[in-house]
Amino acid sequence: MSKARIVATFIRARWGYRFRSRKALERYQLRQLRRQLRFLAKRSPLFQDVLVDAFGSSPDRLENLEDLARLPLMDKQSMMANFDRLNTVGAQLADVEAAALGGADGALPSSRLPQGIVAGLSSGTSGHRGVFVTSPQERDHWAGTVLAMTLPHGRLWGHRIALFLRAGNELYDTVRSRAIDFRFYDTHGDLVSHARDLAEYNPTILVAPPSVLDVLAEQCMATEHSSGIALASNPGLSSTPMLHPQRVYSVAEVLTDADGTRLAQAFSQEHLHQLYQCTEGLLAHTCERGTLHLNEQIAIFEREWLDDRRFVPIVTDFRRRTQPIVRYRLNDILQVRSSPCDCGSVLTALERIEGREDDTLIVDGTPVFADVVARAIVRADGFTNYRVRQFADGSLEVALDDLAARDEVARALAELWARLGLESPVTDFIGYVHNPTQKLRRVQRVAERKPR
Ligand SMILES: [Zn+2]
Repeated sequence: MSKARIVATFIRARWGYRFRSRKALERYQLRQLRRQLRFLAKRSPLFQDVLVDAFGSSPDRLENLEDLARLPLMDKQSMMANFDRLNTVGAQLADVEAAALGGADGALPSSRLPQGIVAGLSSGTSGHRGVFVTSPQERDHWAGTVLAMTLPHGRLWGHRIALFLRAGNELYDTVRSRAIDFRFYDTHGDLVSHARDLAEYNPTILVAPPSVLDVLAEQCMATEHSSGIALASNPGLSSTPMLHPQRVYSVAEVLTDADGTRLAQAFSQEHLHQLYQCTEGLLAHTCERGTLHLNEQIAIFEREWLDDRRFVPIVTDFRRRTQPIVRYRLNDILQVRSSPCDCGSVLTALERIEGREDDTLIVDGTPVFADVVARAIVRADGFTNYRVRQFADGSLEVALDDLAARDEVARALAELWARLGLESPVTDFIGYVHNPTQKLRRVQRVAERKPR
């Protein structure tokens, strides 16, 4: 890790990008893209061939951003299938997998990987496990960028950042200095003891998946009960939270509007902030107004439109060099905002990240976006946590943390199907159980059969 590099990235990400117009941004993207492709033409055996096929001998022939479409699409499967020829450091997939799996158990990274290269696992979607490798430079860039995007305006130093993420990922364990302190928590660990430690640490910035934020909010309240504050005798009084973060960031899971509002309230925030971070990069973050903006200063987002607002992004990152991300089709649905954000940024404003494309339910033969289902459900009252799963036979299972609300939820869903002109699927209700070892997807479609 190089502090100088982190600081340099931080400064550039924080104050360096000031695009006056979309045109200026696009000119910048084109320059960065050409630079990246020139690099790949030299260092990635796969891209040596691909670029010659698309542009002849020189990627400088790329005249505008649309020319990018001449390159083939990539997804997790093809990326893994072509891993050995794709990466620019001569790493072999077998070694990377061994190192990534070893790392999760605390073993040392494989010495068969090139100097400084760290391997990580990415969560398997539909059974495909992915791996990714990063160089020290990329990790420093990441740390600098995250800091630039998350630190509030005003005082920059003295922040304590509490980060709740899945374990076994060194990418997230980079920054610790006198000026800024990161404390890393494993979401698979004991959240109750984490909550105790967290209250002591008193972070200025709290970063966690919404399902973990939920537990933390609850835990901090519970701890206060037991510490003798007379909440029980006067339940109408709002309690003083034990945490006083200046900012709370939601990461790693889809944040529904209803959860966002509820969690912002629980942590006394004006709005919940979001970082849209995945293996493929740090793809979007919220501005001061709480609006999500695509990180178009570090990547190009082509759009595969699903309707007039929703699209699946195809990402080309012009910073990732060890394992290039070029025309990588994500398994996510994003929705653009209907009006521009009044922060004035030229970066595309999003309404929300809706979730995974393969979590789109199929009801009566018709796709129904996960977000549409989530919004219908929260019209009902009397519960906080829920999860909807659709099984291979098309039936639904709705888990609620208070089953007294089942009739109301059933009515809300019936209204939705009626409004869409669809026949209601078979729907069962069960109790909701929080599972900290899994990413929470409020609405998901699974390949399994319904459990009997
Ligand atoms: Zn904005």
